[in-house]
Amino acid sequence: PIYLDNNATTPMDPRVLEAMIPYFTQKFGNAASRNHPFGWAAEEGVDYAREQVAKLIGANEKEIIFTSGATEANNLALKGVFEMYKDKGNHIITCTTEHKAVLDACKHIEKLGAEVTYLQVKSDGLIDLQELENAITDKTILVAIMYGNNEIGVIQPIKEISAIAHKRGALFFTDATQAVGKIPVDVNADGIDLMSFSAHKMYGPKGVGALYVRRKNPRVKVTAQMDGGGHERGMRSGTLNVPGIVGFGKACELCQLEMAEESKRLSALRDKLESSLTTLEESYVNGNREYRLPHVANISFKYVEGEGLMMAMKDMAVSSGSACTSASLEPSYVLKSLGLSDDLAHSSIRFGLGRFTTEEEVDFAIEQTKKAVNHLRDLSPLWEM
Ligand code: PMP
Repeated sequence: PIYLDNNATTPMDPRVLEAMIPYFTQKFGNAASRNHPFGWAAEEGVDYAREQVAKLIGANEKEIIFTSGATEANNLALKGVFEMYKDKGNHIITCTTEHKAVLDACKHIEKLGAEVTYLQVKSDGLIDLQELENAITDKTILVAIMYGNNEIGVIQPIKEISAIAHKRGALFFTDATQAVGKIPVDVNADGIDLMSFSAHKMYGPKGVGALYVRRKNPRVKVTAQMDGGGHERGMRSGTLNVPGIVGFGKACELCQLEMAEESKRLSALRDKLESSLTTLEESYVNGNREYRLPHVANISFKYVEGEGLMMAMKDMAVSSGSACTSASLEPSYVLKSLGLSDDLAHSSIRFGLGRFTTEEEVDFAIEQTKKAVNHLRDLSPLWEM
């Protein structure tokens, strides 16, 4: 099958693999071994990668805390900020379309005394800035709103959100896992205090990511969630995943060099896919079409049964609006948050294009999807067009 699920994960760029290989065998040292050249070589690799990662987001390398991925970075940000600042206030604001790693970390700290406001989104997936303003109180320590959504690609008004948070003395955290490497993200221009992202969404390896933690204006601290040898400025102990970090660094460098071209190419392909598939009657693009990532299209096909659609599309690796939770098909909570009915949420497909997606693959996807939708509608008693 052709791969159109680049929001779930991306294939690793061969140039990333090449950069990593020496760090498995020759340069295998522990980056924390300060007394011999094996350690120094590993440390050098990590230092260089830290610069590459920091540069992509306009940060200082001292502000990068390496983690095992964005799930861990989200947990560290939410739990770590709550633990560090809870004497200042216990209120946190997030929204209903966040990734589970944010929502479930919020649920966790609620049990520890946090009060969390979950902002609804509008039908286009964007939050209402007025509602955010209204939700902030003197007890609000953190506003946590994602950069780009993983299901619909919608990009939130990050600068405006951070300005509102800061005006009221709250910190601003964003899960930018889907945005970093795809669109320009600059922690200073965007007013970001903490930000999570992950290598495997940007053609790097799985199992490595980072939390950006601001060091100036203001100096932000998080309480470690992993205690031990005091790595990563005490915020995340554990021997560093040196090959993974080196690969993450290389992936960031490549994104920085190629992002502008790549996003132009992918948004053109995405537009072609969307305009072809919306020639089908009763098909709807989900999410705001202006403020969104260049490589994602989420489309609902009314009167098409979701499971049948996935089955009929077996030559394509795509993602559906149904999440398999404990063997039952639940409609996507993100699409439900936009106000979609269960049926329409079930009948949606996320196409995630990527660096290695070709025009031929997109053409194939268009043809196969049209065929599947038409076929399933012919079988459907609800379809009488
Ligand atoms: N946040 C978002 C928005 C994501 O899309 C993902 C990956 N599905 C994660 C967090 C989790 O990232 P990781 O796989 O690196 O833990």
